[in-house]
Amino acid sequence: MEFRIGNAKIRIIRGDITEQETDAIVNAANSSLMGGGGVDGAIHRKGGPKILEECKRIRRTQWPNGLPTGKAVITTGGNLKAKYVIHTVGPVWRGGKHGEAELLADAYRNSLKLAVSKGIRTISFPAISTGAYGYPMEEAAEVALKTVRDFLEDEDKLDEVVFVLFTESAYKVYERKAREILAE
Ligand code: ADP
Repeated sequence: MEFRIGNAKIRIIRGDITEQETDAIVNAANSSLMGGGGVDGAIHRKGGPKILEECKRIRRTQWPNGLPTGKAVITTGGNLKAKYVIHTVGPVWRGGKHGEAELLADAYRNSLKLAVSKGIRTISFPAISTGAYGYPMEEAAEVALKTVRDFLEDEDKLDEVVFVLFTESAYKVYERKAREILAE
């Protein structure tokens, strides 16, 4: 499924983010940047040790206490098809009244800003926070789609944003929400 916002395309697909050929893929990391389960584990496994080496350097030089929720950093893509991995930390779901939506929007926005600052033109996102961090898929999809739409409306330096959904149920939620949010 595909939508156009200005000159950019938004694509929604079911798949594995580690297989994407966009310039960058986004990692739903945790603040340690030392790897973990879910999409984070899959990216480090397939991307190889260079990614973790750069994450360790970022911890030492920029974020000794860990990457705060909503912020983003960039490393090589190592052995992945994508040249870069952008690591961001989504919020842990605590019922929805603890600023979760704004923090999740920050994670998307700061990833997009960092991409543009590096000359990246195509980028893939997983459904940040919807796994171990427990963010409900419907609410997360709404934040993801609206934040990316608003960003692309103000910015012409990106060609394509791909939402990569790992499960059929996540894909269906995104599909339905995108028809609501992105269709004119
Ligand atoms: P978080 O800790 O931010 O919740 P997770 O990695 O646990 O991150 O889950 C985020 C989402 O990524 C979940 O919807 C999960 O199904 C999905 N996911 C897991 N593996 C992959 C993958 N290889 N490609 C794309 N999405 C994935």
